[in-house]
Amino acid sequence: MVENSQVQLVQKSATALNRFVSPLDISKLVAQHGTPLYLVDEDTLHAKAKELHKAYSKFKGPVKVAYSIKANFTPAVIKSFMKDGVTFDLTSLGELHFIKQCKADPENIIYTSVTEEPEEYLEVLQSGVRRIVVSSFNGMMNLAKAAGRTGSKPLTMIRVNPEVGVKAEVRASYRNGKFGVPFNGGTIDSAAKMVKHLMGNELLKFEGFHFHLGSQITDFSCYTHALDKMDAFMTKMKKDHPSFHVNTFDIGGGTPVFYNDPVPTPAQMAENHVGKLNQLAETHGTFTLMIESGRFLVAESSILVSRIVNTKEYNEHKIVIVDAGYHILLDAALLKQEYPQEVVPVVDSKDNTTAIATPKNTHLAGRLCDTYDVFPLSKVSDLNGSEVGRYISFYNVGAYSVVFNMPFHCQTKPPIVMKDSDGKFRLVRKGTTYEKLFVEEGGNIA
Ligand SMILES: *Cc1c(COP(=O)(O)O)cnc(C)c1O
Repeated sequence: MVENSQVQLVQKSATALNRFVSPLDISKLVAQHGTPLYLVDEDTLHAKAKELHKAYSKFKGPVKVAYSIKANFTPAVIKSFMKDGVTFDLTSLGELHFIKQCKADPENIIYTSVTEEPEEYLEVLQSGVRRIVVSSFNGMMNLAKAAGRTGSKPLTMIRVNPEVGVKAEVRASYRNGKFGVPFNGGTIDSAAKMVKHLMGNELLKFEGFHFHLGSQITDFSCYTHALDKMDAFMTKMKKDHPSFHVNTFDIGGGTPVFYNDPVPTPAQMAENHVGKLNQLAETHGTFTLMIESGRFLVAESSILVSRIVNTKEYNEHKIVIVDAGYHILLDAALLKQEYPQEVVPVVDSKDNTTAIATPKNTHLAGRLCDTYDVFPLSKVSDLNGSEVGRYISFYNVGAYSVVFNMPFHCQTKPPIVMKDSDGKFRLVRKGTTYEKLFVEEGGNIA
């Protein structure tokens, strides 16, 4: 296993950017919708769902891909994934509302809450959702109460915190962390105690386990360690409870995306632990494997187009200012995410005669009056030709960007245009207006 993972990290995945729109398309779309403008490619969404599922084809049992809609809840994106038959991973009643409005089948929902309130679980169960992941003893009791009121018997999974070291951009598993429960924490908030309770609970049916280690994981040893710990824990549970059986095993998200450095493909990632998963199924009985993903499924589907609105030069530095900012690309500031950026080629070849030599020290700055509003550059970013009036594309912005849009500096939300599978462009979210924002902020009642 370990040697395998070493090999994979050497075989890097392709780093080509997803240029699903031509410069001519971009010039037409910005003429119609203005900038900043998000562009989404439906085909990429389908391709990613397929690729992630196929990556685990060596698993000797059913595999389900679950889309964590927190990464991008644009209804058009949700509806695209419905065509792929993916499961939706939800964490809030707001997300449940979106999924219901999109008319997704409740059978294709896995609900993993952090808050786990009684009324929340009641609404979830009343919506026909059966697969619930509980993360605390209290949450499990709240679910049982809700189940008693609805008369349904939810398939209950326990979110385990395997407390393994995770090297990733965002870690979700660490000792005494917020998510899930440890195997044995010395209190009722432990997987062992919760399994014991579930084995005797009439209102809930034990379904299996869930863990989520982090986001943008490129070192897969954390999965190996977590699965080794799960293996030992499942052996112990079987000894304590003869009827113990895992039907669903969910290994969470974390599949990485190319921003700056090359990352392994999902197939290379699966290669790291599919052998161990098969061994678990052999030892403990076969189960459905669930793979969650937010980032991988949506990131490469989207481009943000912005316009260069100002430039200045001094001491061999050039500052290029665009009409985007971290208010629509928060992870650029929060995680120093190095989105690949590129100046859109000029369509009219007459304009293109004067190639602009861009100084080596070019800084790409956002429109906000805030120190952190400078975009980190990716190794593949190309700012040559940065000139007022030209456009800059930010690639791979489909995950954790639209969902973070905020009105800092009284900024409005950009429109979203989707390139459908038939090649046609379709407005799937209107941009908001200053007037709407003013009203939203209480302008008409203050
Ligand atoms: C955020 C989250 C995911 C998705 O993580 P990605 O890194 O986007 O793949 C999956 N499962 C849970 C429980 C999450 O909170």
